This record gives sequence, C-alpha cells and structure tokens, in this order.
Amino acid sequence: MSQPENRPCIFCKIVAAEAPAKIVFRDERVTAFHDLEPIAEHHILIVPNRHIASLNDLGPEDEPLIGYMVGVARQIAAGQGFADKGYRLIVNTGAGGGQTVFHLHLHLIAGKRSRFRIG
Ligand code: 5GP
Ligand code: ZN
Repeated sequence: MSQPENRPCIFCKIVAAEAPAKIVFRDERVTAFHDLEPIAEHHILIVPNRHIASLNDLGPEDEPLIGYMVGVARQIAAGQGFADKGYRLIVNTGAGGGQTVFHLHLHLIAGKRSRFRIG
C-alpha cells in the first residue's frame, strides 16, 4: 500500500454501525451518510461497505460498484430535491489529491457553500 492507512477505519466502523453517523442510505453494497464537517448546505459521503482504500485500489471487477455508487448519489440528489439545481461529485484520491480518509468515498455536494476546502 503506497498511501497512508488509517486503521481502524472510521468509515468501516460507520458501515458496521460501530460509530455514529447520520445515515442517508444503506444497502448491502453501499452506505451514505452526512459529512461530519460539511462544506456546503448538502454534503453527503457515499462509501462502499467493503473496505477499498482509494480509486487506485479498485480492480476491474469493481467497475459495476462505482457505477452503482454514482447511481446512489443520483438517487439521493433527487430524493433530497437538489438534482435539478445541480450538484458535484468528488473523489479525492491519494494524499496529494486531498484524500484524508483512506476508505473510498464519493463526496456529494450541493447548495450554498459554507466553506472552501475541496476543489
Ligand atoms: P477526504 O478528504 O478523504 O476526501 O474526505 C474525508 C471526509 O470525511 C471529510 O470531508 C471529513 O469531514 C469526513 N469525515 C472524517 N471523519 C468523519 C467521521 O467520523 N464521520 C463523518 N460523518 N465524516 C467524517
Ligand atoms: Zn474502511
């Protein structure tokens, strides 16, 4: 592993309901929850339930999972009523890419920005 690891992984704990989070969506493949430090009105993280450190650690067999995660993001955007207005999906990858939690996650960000940190 070329990137730093943070074990025990906080997102694995949230997936396992061993750490608190405001869960938005959960099924057998992914969990979505509110970011602890939102940078905008809507800031939700979508993570695979299985620990995958980053985009760099995906195998070709994981392509459907990424597609599924994007689909979940779309559904959440629609469900929360900001799909039409617009939103951003961000995947910080590696320390140099701004990744701080090494469990793959999509940032789903929409609405008024409360502070600038990503992008
Ligand atoms: P990264 O910088 O790795 O792309 O994003 C990690 C995100 O996880 C940050 O936006 C940070 O606020 C969020 N985060 C870190 N620890 C926790 C936590 O324990 N709970 C929740 N809900 N979000 C967290
Ligand atoms: Zn993890």
